[in-house]
Amino acid sequence: MTDTPYYHCNGELVPATEATVSVDDRGFRYGDGAFETLRAYGGTIFEWDAHAERLEDTCEALGLDHGHSRAELAERINATLEANELEEAYVRLSITRGVQSGKLTPKPITEPTVVVAVKPLPRGGLEGVPVWDGPASMQTVKVRRIPDACLPAGAKTHNYLNGILARRELHDADEALVRDLEGYVAEGTTSNVFFVDEEGLHTPTTQVDVLPGITRRVVLECAEEAGIPVTEGWYRPVDVRQADEVFLTNTTWEIRPVALVDGIEFDTDAAPVTALLSRLYAERVEQACY
Ligand code: PMP
Repeated sequence: MTDTPYYHCNGELVPATEATVSVDDRGFRYGDGAFETLRAYGGTIFEWDAHAERLEDTCEALGLDHGHSRAELAERINATLEANELEEAYVRLSITRGVQSGKLTPKPITEPTVVVAVKPLPRGGLEGVPVWDGPASMQTVKVRRIPDACLPAGAKTHNYLNGILARRELHDADEALVRDLEGYVAEGTTSNVFFVDEEGLHTPTTQVDVLPGITRRVVLECAEEAGIPVTEGWYRPVDVRQADEVFLTNTTWEIRPVALVDGIEFDTDAAPVTALLSRLYAERVEQACY
């Protein structure tokens, strides 16, 4: 890692002090932007195609035609990793509709804002220390997930107010268990939820409004590979509380065990399915990136 972090800001690599966007940027004004959080392992972005595809889907949902190809975006990410001398990293790629005259109604984009930010993030891997500080504790919150009819559920936009309000409700927990309007478990605020019971592995179906996590998909593939029965269904918080094991997934945490749900404790040292899936996930990373 270099002493000064470098950002890729609108086509240029600049030191942190010069990495700025306009106060009139629509991403700042309205949250009118799309982003992806990615991870580089050994200098390679894990599941790049899946992230690029989700970004394209988000941009399509927002009608945000930024005009940059997948290859160009990958080049900018790689250049940023190189400039910061990083191989094991957290990467954030953000694209907004940029500065536009006028008010809310978006106009065709002339100059999108495209930013790549990276930070060191050592790999946990098969033997290393995972990035999360410890197992998660969860609390079912009152705030409900924004329905797909209001904001496309699969879109990863700059607008995280829903998750922020959910997190503000937390007392002795660090991730929210967020339900949809009908009371079905949807996801965490930045993660997908899984639990294990005597029938196997469960996670909310994407027919409930959830962000289709890329880690979620990889974990489902690992479970299938291991012959673990998987159900994608409709669940209530009580189903999660009564489970044998609970874990969360996202790109940065990978698989994060859960030790507490609404005050109910889970022994994360006796969670064989979580342990097996974590190993299979690490093997996937190993194969794909090293
Ligand atoms: N749900 C939400 C709301 C999220 O913000 C995230 C993080 N992007 C996830 C799920 C997990 O997605 P992924 O595995 O692609 O990081």
